Amino acid sequence: MEENIPLAPLTTLCVGGPARYLARIATREDLLAAVDFAHDEELPLFVLGGGSNVLATDRGFPGVVLKMEMAEPPAFEDGPEAVTCRVAAGVDWDAFVLAVCERGLTGVECLAGIPGLVGGTPVQNVGAYGQEVAETIVAVRALDVEAMSFVSLSAAECGFGYRKSIFNTTARGRYIVTRVTFRFAKGRGVSLQYAELQRHFEGRVPTPMEVYRAVRAIRHGKGMLLVEGEPDCRSAGSFFKNPVVTEAVFAALAKEFADSEVPHWDAGPGKVKLAAAWLVEQAGFHKGFAIGRAGISSRHTLALVNLGGATAAEIAALRDAVRGGVEGRFGVRLEQEPVGLG
Ligand SMILES: Cc1cc2nc3c(=O)[nH]c(=O)nc-3n(C[C@H](O)[C@H](O)[C@H](O)COP(=O)(O)OP(=O)(O)OC[C@H]3O[C@@H](n4cnc5c(N)ncnc54)[C@H](O)[C@@H]3O)c2cc1C
Repeated sequence: MEENIPLAPLTTLCVGGPARYLARIATREDLLAAVDFAHDEELPLFVLGGGSNVLATDRGFPGVVLKMEMAEPPAFEDGPEAVTCRVAAGVDWDAFVLAVCERGLTGVECLAGIPGLVGGTPVQNVGAYGQEVAETIVAVRALDVEAMSFVSLSAAECGFGYRKSIFNTTARGRYIVTRVTFRFAKGRGVSLQYAELQRHFEGRVPTPMEVYRAVRAIRHGKGMLLVEGEPDCRSAGSFFKNPVVTEAVFAALAKEFADSEVPHWDAGPGKVKLAAAWLVEQAGFHKGFAIGRAGISSRHTLALVNLGGATAAEIAALRDAVRGGVEGRFGVRLEQEPVGLG
């Protein structure tokens, strides 16, 4: 168990004070021992994957941070109708997507280039360009820290929705994901729901590897691919979720912007999902906007970035300014996507 370990280098936003304890988890035994320690000492626990969706506070975390490093190579199993694959929580997500696409399998090709580890993907049901992990996850193996026993949860039991699951809602803090099982149906085509991807291939049906490369290239153009040394890369990706509003709220907006289309998607009966990036821009916050050392990415309105040496408080101040601006202008409250740590 390491003590007083700075969290900033362990997160992609590069902010955050020290963790009181940090336990590197490479085996089941490491995990059980670290959780037992936290229970015995009555300390809070935080599970950290790649740190690409967290905002750690400057004062740090007074408990035990579990750094997930279980990384046995993925085990692919060929069946008559599908290939299944069990993947340890500490495996790099993009490396796994690459391995899937290289085998000519489909189901996660649009999720190329998303930072972080496999164990983090079910937590917020990671999604991009019309695809979500909920479509291919069949089971999640996890330690239930209340019962101190390992359980297997089916996809239905995970309660997946838009950027949510039981792991970040009703059962937050209860399960530590140790392994995820995916199922890739044979004969299923690549997913090309996103207009930018369709344009890229001009009506041609690409291979999974071609989609993998195209998605990474598109993400790179938007600063949504972590490339060492690039200025927009100290971020946690999209900082705000796309808000879901009632049809009445949407109708009022559409009336006000009668001359231009308000970007939106159907979100179930009586509900409309709005584009957070559009709201942020309309509220006057543009790419490159900055307050001190915290800024909006020069390539993506939804990504808040650490311009170099920012504190968590500076990132939070920018978040509050953007959120206040959108709420004041439209009466719509934006929800933060990265998880608070500390
Ligand atoms: C440039 C950039 C682009 C991004 N693009 C996207 C995108 O397109 N779509 C998208 O959905 N997300 C995106 N993200 C957000 C992020 O990459 C994903 O949410 C990712 O799955 C987080 O994984 P992680 O391992 O980094 O988790 P962390 O950031 O370490 O943790 C996130 C949350 O998951 C919990 N957690 C992590 N691992 C486990 C585990 N094994 N068991 C239990 N809980 C766990 C943590 O406690 C925390 O609550 C992006 C982030 C960045 C920086």
